[in-house]
Amino acid sequence: GFGVEALGLGLCSAGNALRYLNKNFMGRTEHLVSLKLINNVHVMGLDSFTIKNLELFSSLSNSNSIGTLIDVLDQMQTPQGSRLIRNWVRRPLLNVDRINNRLNRIKELINDRKLLDNFHDDLNSVSDIDRIIARLSVNKANPKDLINLSLSLSVASKMKNRLTSKVATLNCLFNDFKETFQVETLINNTVSKDPSINLNKGGFIKRGFSEELDELRNISESGSNWLIKFQSQERDRTGISSLKIGYNKVFGYYIEITKVHNTKIPENYIRKQTLTNAERYFTEELKDYETQILSAKEKINILELEIFNQLREDVLKYIKPIVNNSNIISKIDIATTLANLSINNNYIKPIINDDDEIIIKDSRHPVIEKLLPHEESFIANDIILDCNNRQIAIITGPNMSGKSTYLRQIGLITIMAQIGCFVPASYAKIGIVDKLFTRVGASDNLAEGESTFLVEMNETANILNNTSNKSLIILDEIGRGTSTYDGLSIAWAITEFIHNNSGSNAKTLFATHYHELVDLGNSLKKAFNLNVNVREINDEVVFLRKIIDGGTDKSYGIYVAKMAGLPEEVILRATEILDSLSTNRKKTSDIKKYNKNKIKQSSKDNIQKEIISELKKLDINSLSPIESLKKLDELKNKL
Ligand code: ADP
Ligand code: MG
Repeated sequence: GFGVEALGLGLCSAGNALRYLNKNFMGRTEHLVSLKLINNVHVMGLDSFTIKNLELFSSLSNSNSIGTLIDVLDQMQTPQGSRLIRNWVRRPLLNVDRINNRLNRIKELINDRKLLDNFHDDLNSVSDIDRIIARLSVNKANPKDLINLSLSLSVASKMKNRLTSKVATLNCLFNDFKETFQVETLINNTVSKDPSINLNKGGFIKRGFSEELDELRNISESGSNWLIKFQSQERDRTGISSLKIGYNKVFGYYIEITKVHNTKIPENYIRKQTLTNAERYFTEELKDYETQILSAKEKINILELEIFNQLREDVLKYIKPIVNNSNIISKIDIATTLANLSINNNYIKPIINDDDEIIIKDSRHPVIEKLLPHEESFIANDIILDCNNRQIAIITGPNMSGKSTYLRQIGLITIMAQIGCFVPASYAKIGIVDKLFTRVGASDNLAEGESTFLVEMNETANILNNTSNKSLIILDEIGRGTSTYDGLSIAWAITEFIHNNSGSNAKTLFATHYHELVDLGNSLKKAFNLNVNVREINDEVVFLRKIIDGGTDKSYGIYVAKMAGLPEEVILRATEILDSLSTNRKKTSDIKKYNKNKIKQSSKDNIQKEIISELKKLDINSLSPIESLKKLDELKNKL
């Protein structure tokens, strides 16, 4: 009945895993109630590099969760909701209807703010049901757990009762809801309202549940009255007003009398213990009392534990409906949280279909937009990708202009859309993406310390061999990890391959600082150029963060260096070198200029030869200091 009959190896693995757990948990695995096939065919392919590079769960810079997608999304109110959203982010869906189901739940809640607020309040009193069930199975649950369980289950029914016919998708979710009032009543009738979490403290079974228990409790409680009476009776009898009755664990109950009164001790007092200033005694009467009380207390403890264990077993009979409803609560938690998140963060409902097209207007990076300082606002950008005319976007732009951010936000929005979450944009139409690859050029990954270029090429090979029309490839500065021309050539060839790979027209975003690749964007039919707009104002560069059509031919690296505060000297020298390198480069691309330069170059060579021969002839010993300075000046002028 689990749909796994045909999976011989899978069944063996599952069986072994269960056996291992059974051995290590001494058979206490009753809470594992069913087997479910995790079929990766129905979820978006996300490999480990993509998960890492898109910073879904942990940040590249500090390896904690600040600055990650999950950090933005996981505002869940229940631990089970929190676990489920993690699962979802790891496994975005491919089925349009399933995605729309999730999206519609959010939409219905946004449209019905009162229901949204009520759900939000309800969820506050829901505990980690799955965890309680697990603890219950391994006999680690305490009375408080059961009370929390019962409360949480009753909240689920309360939420179900809030639904109106207007919220069709939410109603659908509750179709599977199982009534649990029986188990709730069972718990509420057995466990007292505010029990301790310590089983040994006792007092957690409700009065009225067991006659025997109530009687024992009466004995134990009336005991303290008896003691008070006994104490005053003995004081009167002996005339010792400081006489007192006490109790300790080792000696039990005793009568304590200070040594001053030694002469007044009655005959039936039996000495029990001697202290420096006092003696402790007991009487037959006190002894009888002690036996009765202590055995009552002991019996109470045993009885309470017995009742609790029985209850535990009875509750475990309801495991299936409980786990089932917990699952519904998790989904409601996600819908409620994402609805509130969409309202607060200005997310919209994406349109999901099976076309091979991605259109997003005014897209934003869900994480970076939250991390920007208050005075800076995130600049929204558009993207249109398809398989025919706009398959490959070549994105050029200077360092720090926002290329990587743009690439990643498109990847993240696709994931958000396919887990059934609203997205940071003003409009989004997303044709299902079956696989999302994200690769980041080697030097962005230097912390790894391995031969990163090789790793990069391995990853790229993996992509080039595994895409379809529905795949989305994000390449950020691929080819950067080696010398310029190598890297450039590889980047070039990769782009051509993706473009000409007849079996698959994977949509591709390729950010590069090789502005030479702009030519490729122009020449390949399905490729196009984008660049990040930059404005130069009085020698200063202003990054506008706006993605515009067309390529760029400047990288502004030196401006960035200057912004970063490199010494003036370094900046000037770098500008000089850049100028001469650019001259060289133009030389190779432009024949006319090349020839002109060649002429210039040969006259330069002649002057140099002339100066060298002059230097050789020079007899330094015959020159005065002034004369040598003059000579130096002359040579320099010639140069
Ligand atoms: P590149 O990849 O071009 O070097 P990044 O994408 O790393 O640039 O962006 C550098 C920084 O610029 C980011 O960390 C972010 O703070 C800021 N930034 C990027 N895109 C935007 C945007 N659209 N709006 C506002 N700030 C942005
Ligand atoms: Mg970058």
